[in-house]
Amino acid sequence: MESGRKKKLAGWGNYPVAESYTLSPRDEQDVRSDLGKGVLIPRGLGRSYGDQAVNDDKYVAVCTKLNHFLSWDEPEGILECEAGVSLEEIITVFGPKGWLPMICPGTKYVTVGGAIANDIHGKAHHIDGSFVNCVLSFTILLADGTTPEASRSENSDLFWANFGGLGLLGIILKARLKLRKIETTYFKQKSIVIRNLDHMLEALDQYDKGYNYSVAWIDALAKGKRLGSGVLTLGNAAKLADLPEKLKAEPLRIHKTGKLRVPFFLPSFVLNGLSVRILNRVIAFVQNSPKEFVHYEKFFFPLDAINDWNKGYGKRGFIQYQFVIPEDNGKQNLTEILEMIAASGCTPFLNVFKRMGEGQGILSFPFKGYTLAIDFPVTKALLDFTPKLDAKVLAAGGRLYLGKDALLHETTFKAMYPQHTEWMAIKRKYDPDNRFSSNISRRLGLDIR
Ligand SMILES: Cc1cc2nc3c(=O)[nH]c(=O)nc-3n(C[C@H](O)[C@H](O)[C@H](O)COP(=O)(O)OP(=O)(O)OC[C@H]3O[C@@H](n4cnc5c(N)ncnc54)[C@H](O)[C@@H]3O)c2cc1C
Repeated sequence: MESGRKKKLAGWGNYPVAESYTLSPRDEQDVRSDLGKGVLIPRGLGRSYGDQAVNDDKYVAVCTKLNHFLSWDEPEGILECEAGVSLEEIITVFGPKGWLPMICPGTKYVTVGGAIANDIHGKAHHIDGSFVNCVLSFTILLADGTTPEASRSENSDLFWANFGGLGLLGIILKARLKLRKIETTYFKQKSIVIRNLDHMLEALDQYDKGYNYSVAWIDALAKGKRLGSGVLTLGNAAKLADLPEKLKAEPLRIHKTGKLRVPFFLPSFVLNGLSVRILNRVIAFVQNSPKEFVHYEKFFFPLDAINDWNKGYGKRGFIQYQFVIPEDNGKQNLTEILEMIAASGCTPFLNVFKRMGEGQGILSFPFKGYTLAIDFPVTKALLDFTPKLDAKVLAAGGRLYLGKDALLHETTFKAMYPQHTEWMAIKRKYDPDNRFSSNISRRLGLDIR
């Protein structure tokens, strides 16, 4: 085991950067000894965008070597695995057998522990809900050294508090997950060019019930009559009988590892209004692809095609600002938010929009409403702008996704998540001495003080 080397560590957005002592446990015994070293936060593959898995001057236990499959119940589709197993590893082994993870986010490079801690969601949230819906139970190492199992019926407070719990209650060691039986690894896809926000909301009403997967790309620079324009992509899992003959030859084909990579941080002058317009054109073209059958790799994980694409935002890094607001008065609020963004002087890159279903975990992000995720390069103007956007989202009855946040202030967070008091009572019960802490927990007041 590496013994606590201090190094610069960041989330996927490369902002903020923290100096943390990193540990690399290989088994439960290592994790226990790491726990004895000092205040610590677990980390998976570092795909959360902000300061969730970094810890200035404190320890970070990178759990990716806890990546063993423990048991597989084929008739029930139940996999027991260590928490450092990634969705990529699950797909590689179980895809060819006809099983995929039930919930897939926009990248396959996330661990089971990270997926629980952020209660991640995917394109099918309005039908499948979030990651909690595929987790039967997990085993967690608590601050007192015990390793209870938590499920809906056993230690249920611990179970629910960990979904969206940001790794602040203990280190999840292993989990039992339900996988989804599939006939093929392809999806039947339909793309609709969207003229404006009215058209977008009408299209969601029209299609969301008939399609399990639905997500839209929005041109956040569009103004006036074109505000809210973009491309809505819908899909359903393809059955074997649906596939064209050519694809039937290998219906359970899995991905190859991406070879393209951004080799170094791009200089910041590359990021400007012109590059966004070009990018938006390219996305509109690609999303509007006439192909009817699309492999899961392109359907779920288009960004995984380029390794280290986050370096394309330059050394100053970027944030992904994701909020959800209620459907009530949704059109008006979305219009005002998009107008604020277009007038902000900040450069919105990738913008992803979808309708969410009900939420579940105590601090889980989703609730029934509209969600928009926007990538912004970090600039001085952005740091001035996000508090205004936060206030608007809060006034609309909305909240930010903590798994992506890097900038929210404690008071705004507490107003967005009034249930934080319920969560804090569980934190006090299981971690009274605050052994698990991170930059985000100190920033948002999720520590025992
Ligand atoms: C390209 C891209 C697309 C994405 N798309 C989506 C999306 O569609 N939907 C969505 O919901 N998210 C999305 N995300 C975010 C990502 O799914 C989450 O941030 C996920 O939690 C990252 O998992 P990770 O293994 O990298 O965890 P990390 O980022 O390393 O850590 C995330 C959190 O998990 C905790 N944690 C990690 N391991 C453990 C453990 N063993 N025990 C307890 N806590 C632990 C950490 O303390 C931290 O709080 C996307 C990210 C990227 C980069």
